[in-house]
Amino acid sequence: MANNTSVSLESPLMATYNRFPVTLVKGKGSYVWDDKGTQFLDFTSGIATCNLGHVPDSVKEKLEEQVQNLWHCSNLYNIPNQQELAALLTENSCGNQVFFCNSGAEANEAAIKLARRYAQKVKGTDSYEIVTFEQSFHGRTLATLSATGQEKIQQGFLPLVQGFRYLPFNDNEAIEQLAEIKPAAVLLELVQGEGGVIPANKEWVKKLALICEANDILLMVDEIQTGIGRTGTLFAYEQYSIEPDVISVAKGLGSGFPIGAIIAKEKAAKGFDPGSHGSTFGGNPLATAAGVATITHIVESQLLKHVEEISTYLDVEFQTLKDKYSFIKGIRGKGLLKGIVVEVNAAEIVQKAIGNKLLILTAGPNVVRVLPPLTATVEEINEFINKLEKTFQSI
Ligand SMILES: *Cc1c(COP(=O)(O)O)cnc(C)c1O
Repeated sequence: MANNTSVSLESPLMATYNRFPVTLVKGKGSYVWDDKGTQFLDFTSGIATCNLGHVPDSVKEKLEEQVQNLWHCSNLYNIPNQQELAALLTENSCGNQVFFCNSGAEANEAAIKLARRYAQKVKGTDSYEIVTFEQSFHGRTLATLSATGQEKIQQGFLPLVQGFRYLPFNDNEAIEQLAEIKPAAVLLELVQGEGGVIPANKEWVKKLALICEANDILLMVDEIQTGIGRTGTLFAYEQYSIEPDVISVAKGLGSGFPIGAIIAKEKAAKGFDPGSHGSTFGGNPLATAAGVATITHIVESQLLKHVEEISTYLDVEFQTLKDKYSFIKGIRGKGLLKGIVVEVNAAEIVQKAIGNKLLILTAGPNVVRVLPPLTATVEEINEFINKLEKTFQSI
C-alpha cells in the first residue's frame, strides 16, 4: 500500500477520477514538482484555480498571519476578512451583496436557490424555472448537475431536480422563447469551459440581457472558471457590456484555498433573508484571507494588463503552430482560457505532454485546454510552446 501512487481496486479512494501516475508535492509560480523531484510546467493552474501561480507570496503571507489568530468561527459572528472580501468584490463588480460558500457547485446552488426565492418571495410569482444552455457545466451536486446541459454528467443520477430547461448556446432564435417561458432566471457561462472552451458571442449575450431585463428574468453568469482575471478582466461579463444580476465565482478566488461566492445586485439579493440559506464553512476566516489577498493582488497590480499581453503573444504562437500542424483546426477562448481544437484525440496530447514535463488539460474529446497562471512570463510561454510542439511532433 505504502508505495502506491495510482489508484487501484484496493485503493481507499473512490474511483471518481482517472488519475495520471504523477504525485505532485510542491509548487511555485508556473512550476510544480513531483515526489521524485521532477519539475513540470503547470499550464492547468489546478483547473483555473491557482491564477496567481502556485504558492504566491501575497496570499501565503496573509494566510500565515490568519493561521496565527483564528481558523474558524461560525457565521453567527462578524468575520472581518469576510466583510473585507465582500467589499472588494462589490467595489470591483456590478454587484452589491455577497454570499460565501466553499466551492463552485455550492455557488451555483446558492444562485439557483436565490433565483427561486426571488421569484416566489420578492416577485410573488409561482415561477421556478431556470434556463441554462446545451454543453454547459455548472457542477456536480444534484441541482447543479440538473442545471448542466450535458447528459453524460446526469447519467445514473435520475430523477433530476425539476425546473431546468436547456436552450442551444449562441442561438439568437432560441432565446426569443424566453419572453414566453418567463423563467425565474437564466444561468450561463460566458466562455463554456468544460464544454469545450466556447465563448458566448457578444451580440447574442447583449440580446439575452435585454430580453431578461424586459421580462424581469434574473441574468446569472457562472464565472467560476472565467472569473478572477482568467479572461483578462476581473470578470468576463465586463467584456460583454452587460450587468448580470448574479455572478457565481469560486476556482480562482482563493488562489487554491477552497472558497466560493455569489455576488448579487441589490434587487436579486433581496431573495435571501435570515434563515433562508447558510453554510458552516462559508466565508471562513482562512478562506476569506486567501480571497482578500488574491483580489487585492489582482486589482492593485498590472496583472490584467499582463494577461492581455501574454494572451496576444500566445495567440501569435498558436497561429504559427496551426500553420504547421494540420490536425489543429482552430484556436478559441478569451484571455488565458484557451482551447486548441484538434482533429485527433485531445487526451492523447495531454498524456504525451506529461512525458515532456508539461501539464495541460482537455475540454471534451477534441479540445486541448490551456490555462497558464495569469503571472506566466514570456519565457515560460516560450518554454510551453517548445514542449507543446515536441508533443505535437509525436502525434
Ligand atoms: C468548475 C466549475 C464548476 C464547479 O465548481 P466546483 O468547485 O468543482 O464545484 C461550476 N461551473 C463552472 C463553469 C466550472 O468551471
